Amino acid sequence: MSDLRELYQQVILDHSKKPQNRGFLEAGTHTAEGFNPLCGDKVKLYLKMKGDTVEEASFEGSGCAISTASVSMLTEIARGKTKSELIALFDKFHSLVTEGQLGEEGPDLDKLEVFQGVSEFPMRVKCATLAWHTLKAAFENKNEAVSTE
Ligand code: ZN
Repeated sequence: MSDLRELYQQVILDHSKKPQNRGFLEAGTHTAEGFNPLCGDKVKLYLKMKGDTVEEASFEGSGCAISTASVSMLTEIARGKTKSELIALFDKFHSLVTEGQLGEEGPDLDKLEVFQGVSEFPMRVKCATLAWHTLKAAFENKNEAVSTE
């Protein structure tokens, strides 16, 4: 087992202390809320979509360092990507945080690789994936909050 210092790598800490794209998105076209009762993480995601492409993304909410860093990075990464590119990225990200495998196939995880250590802490997997489950719900413009439970 790696220790927590390895899990909370600098990139995660930076994003959790200074989250990107935090706040209501005036021009938003899609939104969804997510909740992780296991940890108490809450996130509301706003997307501005043009066709299938995300033009802008922002979030509101509060949670632990992992969930905050994850949603902060997601709002950066989502910009300019299509719905199907992001769903493919989520699939690969999901294997990363559950199995710790970077995998050769599929889209480039890029800086999402910092979440690899999460796989050693099963309790934290839902913190890391909450933003992504909420993203999927936002694509469908669901009005009810998604829960990781
Ligand atoms: Zn959490």
